Amino acid sequence: SYNLPMLDKVVTPDVNNPVRLNFNENALGMSPNAKQAAINAVPKANRYAKAEIPLLNKRLAKHHNVDESQILLTDGSSEGIRCSIAAYAKPDTQLVIPELTYGDGEHFAKIYNLRINKVPCLPDWQMDLNGIQKAVENYKGPSIVYLVNPNNPTSTVFATKEIESWIKSKPKNTIFIVDEAYAEFVNDPAYKSVDYLIAQGCENIILLKTFSKIHAMAGLRVGYAVSSIENIENITRYVAGEKLNYCGVCAALTSMDDQAFLTYSKKAVDVSRQIMENVLSDLGLHYLKSETNFMFHKSPIDLKAYRELMKNNFILIGRDFAPATEWCRISLGTPGEMLYVANIMRGLKEKGKI
Ligand code: PLP
Repeated sequence: SYNLPMLDKVVTPDVNNPVRLNFNENALGMSPNAKQAAINAVPKANRYAKAEIPLLNKRLAKHHNVDESQILLTDGSSEGIRCSIAAYAKPDTQLVIPELTYGDGEHFAKIYNLRINKVPCLPDWQMDLNGIQKAVENYKGPSIVYLVNPNNPTSTVFATKEIESWIKSKPKNTIFIVDEAYAEFVNDPAYKSVDYLIAQGCENIILLKTFSKIHAMAGLRVGYAVSSIENIENITRYVAGEKLNYCGVCAALTSMDDQAFLTYSKKAVDVSRQIMENVLSDLGLHYLKSETNFMFHKSPIDLKAYRELMKNNFILIGRDFAPATEWCRISLGTPGEMLYVANIMRGLKEKGKI
């Protein structure tokens, strides 16, 4: 059983052990059961995960209510992003993205020589879904639409019903890559995974998932794609041989069934978010409504100077996210870590430094 809300575990970071709030990792660490599964797998890791990969495929297929042949395991969702773009890149393809989103889509699209079509955001960095649709409709060639929901670095969501009819209308030459890395942290009831659309037979969606976030397995590198059988076959041609981290596969299998840990993992983030919301409100810093394990707020001073100040107090926060250069992304650590962070921020405010 897990002890919530863990407000007792006060942290005392130092230069060698800073509070790491810069990569949207899960500060709790893995489920103890999953950790044990990874440890137990080490002595067998001289072998490929030939027997275990089909088991994880099967487990994930059940989770998303699709057939096993509709799942492709990848080396984190980063590999899923790369392979999905590679599989649909033709010489005149454009990648359509909001101007502020996770960078891997653009990064890989550039490598595959795609045109990049960035759609300006609405106030407070909201995704302009109508603008994105227009960007597809106004283009003659094929489009890859990469939507991150919840979005990174904004931490916000859009309701699936806002894109459902567009996807179901099967726009010509258009494939939707929907990256739901942070879905399990969402509280907004209007949010839904697009997995049910894939289960219903929509053939123009590639859903990308990861074990790096709610499962706290970023270093073990397990992700996957969910799509139609045909899309999965297409994407499979671009993965590095379906050879996955043996320990990662075993840990993922165990973590899938550790519902108590997953519940705890989400609740810990809810507690941490509340601590952060309180301090941001008290300090008068505008922030977006976070549905993830990180928050996006207006930087109180120049972002670089803010980052330095926090670093001097052993807190590492997010980098620049152009074009939102006046905003700061801060990942949500454990509640104990966030109490430390909140104290430091209040102290800096009292001293007039922020
Ligand atoms: N997608 C999003 C939206 C992310 O924020 C990240 C990592 O931060 C990834 C994908 C890639 O994660 P991984 O390759 O560890 O699954």
